Amino acid sequence: MPRRPSPAPRSPAPHRIAPACFSNAGLYAGLTAGPPAGLREKSENWTDYPWSERHLQCVWFDPAYRPAALTTATGEPVTVEEPGMWNQEAGPDFVNATLRIGGPAGRVLKGDVEVHVRPADWRRHGHEADPRYRNVVAHVTYFPGPLPDGLLPPGAVALALREGLARNRGFAFDLIDVASYPWPVRAVTPPCAALFRGMTPEELAGFLDSAGERRMQLKAARMLATAEERDREQMLYEEILSALGYKHNRMPFRLLARRVPVQTLRQYAKGDTLRAYALLAGVSGLLPDRPNAAWDEETRRFIRKVWDAWWKLQEQWGDHALSRKEWRLAGVRPVNHPLRRLMAAAVLASDRTSLSAKLISFVDPEHDRFLERLTKAFAETPADAYWSHRLGLMAKRRETPVALIGEERATAIVVNVAIPFLAAEGHLGPAHQALLRALPPEHDNSLIRTTARLLLGRDHNPALYRGALRQQGLIQLFQDFCLLDRSRCQTCPLPAAIRES
Ligand code: SF4
Repeated sequence: MPRRPSPAPRSPAPHRIAPACFSNAGLYAGLTAGPPAGLREKSENWTDYPWSERHLQCVWFDPAYRPAALTTATGEPVTVEEPGMWNQEAGPDFVNATLRIGGPAGRVLKGDVEVHVRPADWRRHGHEADPRYRNVVAHVTYFPGPLPDGLLPPGAVALALREGLARNRGFAFDLIDVASYPWPVRAVTPPCAALFRGMTPEELAGFLDSAGERRMQLKAARMLATAEERDREQMLYEEILSALGYKHNRMPFRLLARRVPVQTLRQYAKGDTLRAYALLAGVSGLLPDRPNAAWDEETRRFIRKVWDAWWKLQEQWGDHALSRKEWRLAGVRPVNHPLRRLMAAAVLASDRTSLSAKLISFVDPEHDRFLERLTKAFAETPADAYWSHRLGLMAKRRETPVALIGEERATAIVVNVAIPFLAAEGHLGPAHQALLRALPPEHDNSLIRTTARLLLGRDHNPALYRGALRQQGLIQLFQDFCLLDRSRCQTCPLPAAIRES
């Protein structure tokens, strides 16, 4: 009898905005919600758009995400011949764009583009009275909706992205790495650094903890939105695979999870990890198509077994396969090689117990070290006989077993996936805040290092953020302020918000 995936246990109603375990997030959120001169352009209504305006700017800029078929608010087709240059100064988001309106023989608009979440944000940010926005030819928003006549510059069009993005089944906001797009240089000595230096270690720790909780709170809100769009098991599977792709292959792992949905994988695998691995490895496009003369006998046998399963699937799945070019393999540490990580994905996803049930089963009503046990469970995910002693197809067999996921990745999965999920589902409360603070740090994250140097000074003590929650806080600060500032810190609202708090 084929084994069926276990249904997830019943959960309390999801917490839509602020899970109780993140009650300190409000301290930081208060700093980011103030009025601000076009710099804080982010929707606070996380129930219908839990992403940032920066995500929309990336969509507009990148043809890989921008919908091919766009229309103006009055129904005219729009061809984006040039999205414009990403503006690194104050003013519209993109300059020198070229759009053709009304089909191939239509009129051409050349000028600037401003991107917002909602049509009303144009007025909310006071752009109609700002001369820097007079050359705007397109107001691009996520949501469609009316804007009173005469607010946009003469001849400018309004267009919305939501429907075009919804038509693209391969698109997800979480595919976008917002920090990998252009962002301007900061002041050599940013004004916030002096304020952070003036804080006591306890004040700084509290501030970073609060920002970290805010980041987790937002992750939880995004998970809720994604789970509503697809289902929560698929959402968790995508998140876990993305975390396994650290740090260069998050995107192809996520794409793979979309192409081979978790329920399909389970139904095909029937609890057999090798079958699940064959399907994932085949669709990944990374399965070698011929033996390598340098392989030893065990490797040849292993790959032959994988091929025995994959060749029967090729006709159905071959067209879904990713290209090898979509993966970054150069410079990837052997332990992180995608072919190895795919076995971890196969083991986790082909288990009879659903991912959500597994995570929830770790919650301990006594609040006693359950995150530690959860991390250990991920870190010690059992490997198959081949990968438990190998770092690569060309590598020699190791006498001592090598962890398939390991503690570092396991911590990242717990911080980035498990905690936001459990919080969103209402399984974490105020009593868990101490556990959040005790989470071990992630290693080797250049964004954390860069932000720490910028905000805390080159000679700061790394012990100040020796914990996953404070690291998350640094990333949130970077995304909320540094990434959006185009004034070399001069008009960044953070220093004033700190002084007033
Ligand atoms: S942009 Fe703001 S938060 Fe970032 S370094 Fe400058 S002052 Fe600090």
